[in-house]
Amino acid sequence: MASKDEWDYFQNGPSTWVTKFPMAAGSRQSPVNIETKRAESDHEALSSKPLRWKYPSTASRKLVNPGYCWRVDTDGEDTFLSGGPLMDDVYKLEQYHCHWGCSDSRGSEHTVDGQAFAGELHLVHWNTSKYKTFAEAAKASDGLAVLGVFLKVGKTHEEMDKIARLLPYVSHKDEVVEITEPIDPGKLLPDDNGYWTYLGSLTTPPCNESVTWILFKKYIEVSHHQLNIFRNLRKFPRGEECPCHENHGAVINNFRPPMPLGNRVLRECGSF
Ligand SMILES: [Zn+2]
Repeated sequence: MASKDEWDYFQNGPSTWVTKFPMAAGSRQSPVNIETKRAESDHEALSSKPLRWKYPSTASRKLVNPGYCWRVDTDGEDTFLSGGPLMDDVYKLEQYHCHWGCSDSRGSEHTVDGQAFAGELHLVHWNTSKYKTFAEAAKASDGLAVLGVFLKVGKTHEEMDKIARLLPYVSHKDEVVEITEPIDPGKLLPDDNGYWTYLGSLTTPPCNESVTWILFKKYIEVSHHQLNIFRNLRKFPRGEECPCHENHGAVINNFRPPMPLGNRVLRECGSF
């Protein structure tokens, strides 16, 4: 039976979210299409405080299959993100997760001049300078900061492979595995720090308009095989009947289409 707050990327897909989650109809929604020509080169303002981060590899604690992606939950301890559009506020890493497609030609949430990437990694942080908990921050307009990284098909990504190797242990919804091998989220970021930034929202319900988005211009490469391991995740619990009419219950195309940027400002820092 469909519950009140049920949502997915299929029958209860993004176009229906607004009926259960009114915030999805707001004017500060994400993702967006990045029109590179529209980006305001705000290099001095943004680079006066360079974006800085610190992620101890022991912070990544659990790998989870929530039924619509994979997610690594962290303990946040000693993690740090500050600078750039975040100015002097200090943010802590809460979790990171990924979006991908059914094929390598789609899968990212943000698009760049109309082009999608094969996937998009999101590192979700919350503002510890102003708020006491993640939940409190998630309701505030300056509460969250998400680093977005585009995934392009190419060579095997070593750090990502540590996650890919654990995914068979969380193949079904609600399965969780403890992470024992250290994973460094910093190694999942590209080797160039140029980024676009704008004010937006969570891309999943309830679509809170609480996110300062920082999207790296440079992508990282993952292999076709690694993406196929992502596509092997199932969106139903072990022991439940496979919804075979829904691509055998595979977690695929877990991205929201771009929302209008409207009159929001898109800024950029760094060239690439
Ligand atoms: Zn996301």
